[in-house]
Amino acid sequence: MIRITDILDKIYEYNPEGDTDIIDRAYIYSARVHEGQTRLSGEPYLSHPLEVADILADMRLDVESIAAALLHDVIEDTPATKEDIEDTFGPGVAHIVSGVTKLSALTFSTRIAQQAESLRKMILAMADDIRVVLIKLADRIHNMRTLKYHRNKEKQAAIAQETLDIYAPIAARLGIFWIKYELEEIAFYYTLRDEYDRIDALVNKARDEKEDYIKEVNEKLHEKMKEMGLECEIKGRYKQHYSIYQKMITQSLEFDEVYDIIAFRLVMDTVPQCYAAMGAIHSMWKPIYYKIKDYIGNPKPNMYQSIHTTVVGPKGERVEIQIRTRDMDNIAESGIAAHWSYKEGTKVDENTGELFAWIRNLVENQENYNDPDEFLENVRIDLYPDEIYVFTPQGEIKTLPKKATPVDFAYMIHTEVGAACTGSKVNGKLVPLTHRLKTGDTIEIITTKGHTPSPDWLNFVKTVKARTKIRSWINAREKERSYSLGREMCEKTFRKKNQNFNALVKSGEIKKVADTFGFKTIDDLIANVGFGKLTPLQILNKALPELEKQEVKEESILQKQVGKRKKKESTGIIVKGLNDILVRFSKCCNPLPGDPIIGYITQGQGVTIHRKGCLNVMKMSNERHIEVQWSDDFTESYPASIKVRTDDRFGLLADIASVISKYKSNILSAKTETQETGVGMFYFTILVESTDQLRKIMSDIRKVKKVIDVKRIIRTES
Ligand code: MN
Repeated sequence: MIRITDILDKIYEYNPEGDTDIIDRAYIYSARVHEGQTRLSGEPYLSHPLEVADILADMRLDVESIAAALLHDVIEDTPATKEDIEDTFGPGVAHIVSGVTKLSALTFSTRIAQQAESLRKMILAMADDIRVVLIKLADRIHNMRTLKYHRNKEKQAAIAQETLDIYAPIAARLGIFWIKYELEEIAFYYTLRDEYDRIDALVNKARDEKEDYIKEVNEKLHEKMKEMGLECEIKGRYKQHYSIYQKMITQSLEFDEVYDIIAFRLVMDTVPQCYAAMGAIHSMWKPIYYKIKDYIGNPKPNMYQSIHTTVVGPKGERVEIQIRTRDMDNIAESGIAAHWSYKEGTKVDENTGELFAWIRNLVENQENYNDPDEFLENVRIDLYPDEIYVFTPQGEIKTLPKKATPVDFAYMIHTEVGAACTGSKVNGKLVPLTHRLKTGDTIEIITTKGHTPSPDWLNFVKTVKARTKIRSWINAREKERSYSLGREMCEKTFRKKNQNFNALVKSGEIKKVADTFGFKTIDDLIANVGFGKLTPLQILNKALPELEKQEVKEESILQKQVGKRKKKESTGIIVKGLNDILVRFSKCCNPLPGDPIIGYITQGQGVTIHRKGCLNVMKMSNERHIEVQWSDDFTESYPASIKVRTDDRFGLLADIASVISKYKSNILSAKTETQETGVGMFYFTILVESTDQLRKIMSDIRKVKKVIDVKRIIRTES
């Protein structure tokens, strides 16, 4: 069992100024809470966190990471809580440990293979600090190294498979290839034992047979480099069993055809030396031109840099050779960990910032990290800033945009589920439909038969699917409503003139009317009456022109009822989903631009605009309510009534009127009253452009001497 002093020695070497006190304390704490627990190997449990910490020390990580590694299982396996860790070791360590604990709590379903990519993203998304992932990987390495103690063969194979599907690819994505290879090699052994044994035997045989050959290549390379005066280290490395197996499978090769089971690596001091070495090798052995790859000039997205060349070596055999600098070699082995400064928090130089550029390539939305320094400073990362990953109750993973709600989830499952959705449980707890989902949540949707979508949902849904489906449902319903309303309005108007609308429809005559108004179908024509774009009288006049004379009279009477306001091109109102609608303003509550408003579909007179909350509207049938908005380019003036309370005074009326005219507002009417108490009341109806203008006028009137109070009057009776 490794000792804490061995780990501390390693840290002193690469980080002599590191504050190792926190590591000592973490060690003592971990030993105390894990006391009495044992691993399957029979060793004290403490051996596991020590080994994990040792792996991280080999990766030269900072002291907080090492402390967190020593504590990584205490929340999960002992009575210790996140708060305990925070109190004793600070928020940094507590955040990492609780991150590792959260990952361990993810329950993987049996259908891992199909959702492996989502699971990998989920893990990376949940681990908002890269050190959480590094500890998790180190944890997995030690668990794989000790997998032989697992007596349950099925469990053993399942853990190995999960390692292949999830953890080895995450290590590869972070560029930590030594972890990827070690995990794959052990997992291969436990998942495909027969294949592993077969390849192992073949590799050993080849190793014996090729011993002399490898020696020869090695010596020739050494000689050549010496001749050229190039200092270098030459490594001969056998390909991993699992890599050979994969190459055989994916390229349908026999073992003998996999010529690169051994690759030579030349590690040089400088980049020019790398190119010089390549030239020297090519002058000795003929290169296969299409196999030359210059990843020094063109680094891979994960920052991998190296020259790869395959040459025809002695005895006509192909030899793969990699050439790179020592720095490049470190990065190739350790990926992100090679850059991970143990002095976190210190200012990062420009180069280090650049090295982190590749991580930003992983991030779909790259603009979020324009400043690499800021990125590193924060330590915490968000690899998938736009997405969250959540579970269905069956353990299936769904990808949703950030801030998505249960309604989005419901629509993602099925349109019908979305429409009938009335509630939701997240991780077993009831939540409102506006609840923001988080990565790792398990979501259950409660549906009620016959329930229909609510227009309010449009205010919080995040997915295009939910938005489109809700909109199209509302449109369909409004069309339906407008049709029946339009039909009813036409029937009534026709009846008043002793005509029969239904007969007109039946005879087909109405098709002509639809044509003249430019509607494709009769249904469209009728629906547009319901929308208020067209009056039943217009239809009547087109269908029966001989009645027109009578109609003219009627119109003029209606005009009077509507009021004196002139009909202009723009009314300053947008009615949701409709253009050119006939709009008028209610006289009961005089809405002004800026007021919250609602439309009411009137029979034959389009839409009347009321203030939201106007008692008259509340009394009217819900079916005829329609959503309306002020348009941005209103240029109209609207009447507003105000009441001014004053100490009676001569000349006051003139003072108030001058305030109103200062704002270029016209007074439509003015009335004064003097009460017995001596309080004077002035009532004005003025024309204003917006509530804003009205507010300004009112506040200036308040400043007039002897004015006690100014109020806007909203009549609720018409
Ligand atoms: Mn562990």
